[in-house]
Amino acid sequence: MSRVVVLGAGMAGYGAVHRLHAEGLRPLQFDRLPYPGGHTASYEVGNGFIFDDGPHISFTKDPRIQELFAECVGGEFETIQARVNNLWRGHWIKHPAQCNLHGLPEELVVKILVEFVEAQHAEPGPIDNYADWLVAGFGRTFAETFPMRYGLKYHTTEAVNMSTDWLGQRLYRPDLAEVFRGALSPETPEVHYISHFRYPSHGGFFSYLKPFIDKAELKLGHDLVALDPSTRRLRFANGHVEAYDRVVSSIPLPALLPLIEGAPRDVVDAAGRLAWTRCVTVNLGVAREDISDCHWTYFYDDDFCFTRLSFPHMLSPNNTPPGTGAIQAELYYSDKYRPLDCEPESLIEPTIADLTRCGLLREDDEILTRNARLAPYGNVIFDLERADAVERVRGYLDDIGVATCGRYGEWGYHWTDESFKSGEDAAQKVLDSKA
Ligand SMILES: Cc1cc2nc3c(=O)[nH]c(=O)nc-3n(C[C@H](O)[C@H](O)[C@H](O)COP(=O)(O)OP(=O)(O)OC[C@H]3O[C@@H](n4cnc5c(N)ncnc54)[C@H](O)[C@@H]3O)c2cc1C
Repeated sequence: MSRVVVLGAGMAGYGAVHRLHAEGLRPLQFDRLPYPGGHTASYEVGNGFIFDDGPHISFTKDPRIQELFAECVGGEFETIQARVNNLWRGHWIKHPAQCNLHGLPEELVVKILVEFVEAQHAEPGPIDNYADWLVAGFGRTFAETFPMRYGLKYHTTEAVNMSTDWLGQRLYRPDLAEVFRGALSPETPEVHYISHFRYPSHGGFFSYLKPFIDKAELKLGHDLVALDPSTRRLRFANGHVEAYDRVVSSIPLPALLPLIEGAPRDVVDAAGRLAWTRCVTVNLGVAREDISDCHWTYFYDDDFCFTRLSFPHMLSPNNTPPGTGAIQAELYYSDKYRPLDCEPESLIEPTIADLTRCGLLREDDEILTRNARLAPYGNVIFDLERADAVERVRGYLDDIGVATCGRYGEWGYHWTDESFKSGEDAAQKVLDSKA
């Protein structure tokens, strides 16, 4: 039987393991980290505070994945109706903002409404970038006041530098009845694209992956430093060398390409043009649980260092000790557009100061635990260089028989279910190529 190796032990790696295991194979699996889970790892700090490596909830609509994940946690998961809000220039606005304009400055609301109506009837001009797409769908005032401001914090680059291939083909048209209702009344129905989500009752989001661990021979602390496609050998930083017949990789493309011996210069250069965000999470345990009514909040203004907040104790009560709460703040950087030029820990105090300024933390709140973690790969940035570079890189990897998968192996906008399924697909490709 040929030797199948899976690189990476996150959602995509485990999707591959799951598919291979179903065919009676027990692959070898390597990850550079000392723990499994990749970006969906969970960890405990400060006696009973569980944080995920960035907030993770499951909102998959795929019944097969819903059922599989439910089985993984023995049916013990929370089903939660999402409550989401925004903070914009001192106004707490229910999400999405376009359907909840009530209470904003009158002139702004009038301008936005007029432009929404005009945008519905206008023939859109050429859509060359994300900024064009936003203006054509929402009108200029709303686009510039809300999604472009938030987008700059989240993607680290201007909408004009971004493509639209992650948005699907269709232009967004807000539902005018919902927009008007939300401008006239503070009471609006929930219309967020995530209405309900699931979250494991125990152990954080990582619990969804636990049952897969035994289905592979997992080698942690193995940092791949070279892949030789001609001899089919993998070399790791600790000196370990492994031969493979087939390989599935969820390693981020910009990290993988420089490791491939003999990779053509133009392909390595293409991988070097890919842009992504780095996400620092600042995680606080607080001696109080009534911190927010919402599960997460978007921050639009530049003078708040974080982009989004979530509250782990609201995902499962077992994420924090009884009577306490937790806050996870996300701060975004990117090597290409907004380099991180400080240690993540130095962001803890500014985060606490901003949380106090917006009123979510009180001056006298007792902070029971605090830490900051860097997720080196957060979101793929869909800038205008991405599509061509990805095509080149993935075409080459196909040619040398490396089946890539996951958010960073396919270099897309994959949610956890999509990453898992892309791992299954990559494994299938490997199985088919054996036949
Ligand atoms: C802040 C944030 C919040 C998110 N929230 C949600 C959410 O709420 N719901 C949702 O469905 N999705 C969410 N996502 C998306 C989700 O995180 C991804 O779809 C998924 O975790 C990607 O899994 P992966 O296996 O592709 O990548 P990873 O989990 O990153 O796995 C890749 C693995 O490769 C390993 N690796 C890298 N280099 C090497 C090397 N040289 N040698 C060996 N191993 C290596 C890494 O250590 C890692 O474990 C979120 C993403 C972010 C950034």
